[in-house]
Amino acid sequence: MASRRSSSPRSRPARTAPARPTASSVCPCGSGELYTACCGLFHQAGAAAPTAEALMRSRYSAFVKGDVAYLLRTWHPRTRPGRLELAPGMRWTGLEILATGDGTAFHTSGTVEFRASYRGGALHERSRFERVDGAWVYVDGEFPE
Ligand SMILES: [Zn+2]
Repeated sequence: MASRRSSSPRSRPARTAPARPTASSVCPCGSGELYTACCGLFHQAGAAAPTAEALMRSRYSAFVKGDVAYLLRTWHPRTRPGRLELAPGMRWTGLEILATGDGTAFHTSGTVEFRASYRGGALHERSRFERVDGAWVYVDGEFPE
């Protein structure tokens, strides 16, 4: 192995600056925010998603993270499955919000149409959301062409 000429000092001073965002710290929902400042607030800190779109994004991130408890917690009691198993080989690669209808702080229901990509394909769904006790929950979805 050839020796490398280098003018840089052997030991560097310890860095005190905060770590740059990395692929693992950026939120999977595609917002560009850090996970801990985005969907992590809903998953881990118990914050309530303010809009149907925010809930949709946080549920996508929960799929990426394998957070089954969060997915069940944000499912309408009327349509929530008794249990949920995520496909172990599923690798989600991105979320694209295509359209939203209502679902803001002023509404009690809303829709979010999105495309969620995974290795080998994509899911195109229009999801319906409602508020239960003030908190947005997922009701069900239909699958446009
Ligand atoms: Zn997010």
